[in-house]
Amino acid sequence: MIEQTNTTTETTLPKAYDPQAVEGKWYHFWEEGGYFKPRPNNTRKPFVICMPPPNVTGALHLGHAITATVEDILIRYHRMLGDDTLWVPGEDHAGIATQTVVERLLAKEGTDRHKIGREAFVERVWQWVHQYKSRIQNQHRRLGASCDWSRERFTLDEGLSKAVREVFVRLYEEGLIYRGERIINWCPQCMSAISDLEVNHVDTLGTLTYVRYPLKPHEGETETKYISVATTRPETVLGDTAVAVNPNDARYKDVVGRFAILPIIGREIPIVADGAVDASFGTGAVKVTPAHDPTDFEIGVRHNLPRVQVIGFNGVMTEEAGPYAGLDRFEARKRLVEELQQLNLVTKIEDYMVPLGRCQRSDTIIEPLVSKQWFVKMTPLATPAIGAVKYGQLKIIPERFNKTYMDWLENIHDWCISRQLWWGHRIPVWYCDTCGEMTVSREDVTACSHCESTAIHQDEDVLDTWFSSWLWPFSTLGWPEVTDDLLRFYPTSVMETGYDIIFFWVSRMVMSGIHFLGTVPFHTIYLHGLVRDAKGEKMSKSKNNVIDPIEVMDQYGTDALRFTLATSSTPGNDSKLVPERIIGNRNFANKIWNASRFVLMTTAEVGHGVPGITEVQPQTLADRWILGRLARLTQNVTRLINEFQLGEAGRQINEFFWSDYCDWYVEIAKVQMQGNEYARQATAGILRTVLDQSLRLLHPFMPFVTEEVWHYLYQTSELNREQWPASALIVAPWPHANIAAIDDEAEQQFGLVQEVITRIRDARNQVNVEPSRRIPLQMVVGSETQMFEAQSPLIEFLARTEKPQLYESLAQKPEQAMSLLAGHVEIYLPLSGLLDIGRELERLDKEIAQAQQEIVRVQAKLANQNFVSRAKPEVVEKEREKLTVQEERIGKLQTRRAELGG
Ligand SMILES: [Zn+2]
Repeated sequence: MIEQTNTTTETTLPKAYDPQAVEGKWYHFWEEGGYFKPRPNNTRKPFVICMPPPNVTGALHLGHAITATVEDILIRYHRMLGDDTLWVPGEDHAGIATQTVVERLLAKEGTDRHKIGREAFVERVWQWVHQYKSRIQNQHRRLGASCDWSRERFTLDEGLSKAVREVFVRLYEEGLIYRGERIINWCPQCMSAISDLEVNHVDTLGTLTYVRYPLKPHEGETETKYISVATTRPETVLGDTAVAVNPNDARYKDVVGRFAILPIIGREIPIVADGAVDASFGTGAVKVTPAHDPTDFEIGVRHNLPRVQVIGFNGVMTEEAGPYAGLDRFEARKRLVEELQQLNLVTKIEDYMVPLGRCQRSDTIIEPLVSKQWFVKMTPLATPAIGAVKYGQLKIIPERFNKTYMDWLENIHDWCISRQLWWGHRIPVWYCDTCGEMTVSREDVTACSHCESTAIHQDEDVLDTWFSSWLWPFSTLGWPEVTDDLLRFYPTSVMETGYDIIFFWVSRMVMSGIHFLGTVPFHTIYLHGLVRDAKGEKMSKSKNNVIDPIEVMDQYGTDALRFTLATSSTPGNDSKLVPERIIGNRNFANKIWNASRFVLMTTAEVGHGVPGITEVQPQTLADRWILGRLARLTQNVTRLINEFQLGEAGRQINEFFWSDYCDWYVEIAKVQMQGNEYARQATAGILRTVLDQSLRLLHPFMPFVTEEVWHYLYQTSELNREQWPASALIVAPWPHANIAAIDDEAEQQFGLVQEVITRIRDARNQVNVEPSRRIPLQMVVGSETQMFEAQSPLIEFLARTEKPQLYESLAQKPEQAMSLLAGHVEIYLPLSGLLDIGRELERLDKEIAQAQQEIVRVQAKLANQNFVSRAKPEVVEKEREKLTVQEERIGKLQTRRAELGG
């Protein structure tokens, strides 16, 4: 019997695929064996990726998982191409996030950072970091990330700290870093300045309060005049130092130059004309609070206005707030409005949408405050970064992000880099208590560089975390030292990350790379989208829809997770993670396993070589077809990966392996293996070679199952280890598309045979023919008699037919036969061979009667006015649909009946 497989020779491939048993073993093998280290190749360019450093506080989430999956696919592909491939891993010290975590721990212990002091606090954070750093690393190992751990870096390690110092001092010396008073985003919870990018603006319903200020009367003026302003933050009224109007606003021409009297405080404040005022907002006159609003700050600079800070850094009103001093800012708002109302100074309160700024970390409402901070002048750095994209040195995938990148760089603001934290790179600036000058230095200093006084103190603040990570592509390679790695691997190749940090990180790396090394830090930016849930919603703890990648790997295996992430996404677009797809891809891993197991068993006795792709000789149409398909697949997958279309590449491999190889060729091989020794040898060779090539194509996507199977494939071959193409699949040569094997004729002819078989199978299912029953078959095949003659055994086996009767043409179509069409081929299945006609007619009649009964029932319902008028329209509509469905059903059944001659 054909179906029986030869089991006399045991293969060692276990019955079922167990990811847990395989994954750890191979990761250890690769890592210990040095497979993740670069291998110099003089004939090829290096391929380098710096992994976006995950926060050291972090636990692996899907964002990391997709980043690591995409990068690992590219890295494994280039490694197999023979490139000098390096993937640099590392972690970010994550200033605010890490400090917050440790502060919470201290709070639990009943103490805080101020009590234990700076040194002890930093020591405590280091302890925590040493304890938790390995967690995120090991989770990346579980994902199969083939990065070179011997080159792992941390943004706070010695080398990177040196790079940060070098950059700070250099930019300072170049006049690109300065200290100044500016309005910054202040988080009263984190007690730190935060950058514009760390503020989430959320449209929130608030109020717009119209307040009128009395004008200081002119001499002889008896009636009090007022000027009205509108504000969404009434508590800042207390800090007003002017009222401003647009210089072109005719309504206020006469009041410019006069003074208003600030309610409650009594301060006389000037009415000034300034172009920044939007005459269409509110009353056209705006209050000016230079200490609490960025626009007002600028107006204040232009008109030389004092800055009165009424809200403190802790969010509590200051002494300047007069009677409101000591109140929380929001309580002060409420009470002040009440008091103004009592004074009859509130003319109107209306609902108003406010783009409320909240701290990304603590969700606290941001307070714009004036503070002395360090800034980087960005325009001189941004200009060359714009040029890099404009002149094609840097490519962004997908291209539509060019505009996002350009717009941001063209409108860039100076970057506030100081943070009021203790965890991070401390600002390398010392202030002299004797002469008042600053010393900015690469090395720690003990004396003022101006007057040599030792009465100096270092700036208390640390640098923004991004101030270290923007150096990542070269600081990780040893810069500012000129190391071998820097010379060999800089510039890197691809920066792959989520589109959500294009500003925070990607564009800043481009700026620093060009500024400090004179060249773009990578030639391609590949941006992936966010992973959302099955409904397309953002995953969040509050929605309880977070999928934990670790749990997915535990349950379905790492390869299933990786393949799902890779094939669900297209560059730059958000993707949905559908649980059914993870299960589907777990099944794919099992399919690979089972098919491979079968192939190894089947070929064990015959020929167990693994011929090279150009060595296999096709004997049959199916052989030519599968080798042609493989060549085409290899060509496509290579092109798609080069174009970063990883999802499509994965889908094509899946389709080929599952359908062409497993569903068709492996089945066909069962027939071909019945032939003579020569045919058996040839078929076995093709089975094993196509498996080998498929495993190689699939390896970057599903590294574990492929490595395991590949070893079995070669262990069961007649080759000894020295003859293997590589010591492991991870470094096996990437398949070379055998273009000569592409065979349009074979694809066309075999495609027709497949269609014939599929039609017959569908027809059998339709009329419920017992699976084991062989049915008679007549076919009108035109000029292709010879081809179909040769393929008859396949059709017999795969469609379970008797030997097909082939005709070039038929004058009269067979009666009492089911007729099908596959391309130009007419297929006739004599009904007597398919089924008992009498019984089938009986069955059809029964079904028709059932449908008629249902129609009568629904018609009665629809005729009932009571139902039609009271039921919801969609319920009535559903009944009407039922009617249509049943009518169509009767139509089909009657046609079938007529076909059977009933
Ligand atoms: Zn000094």
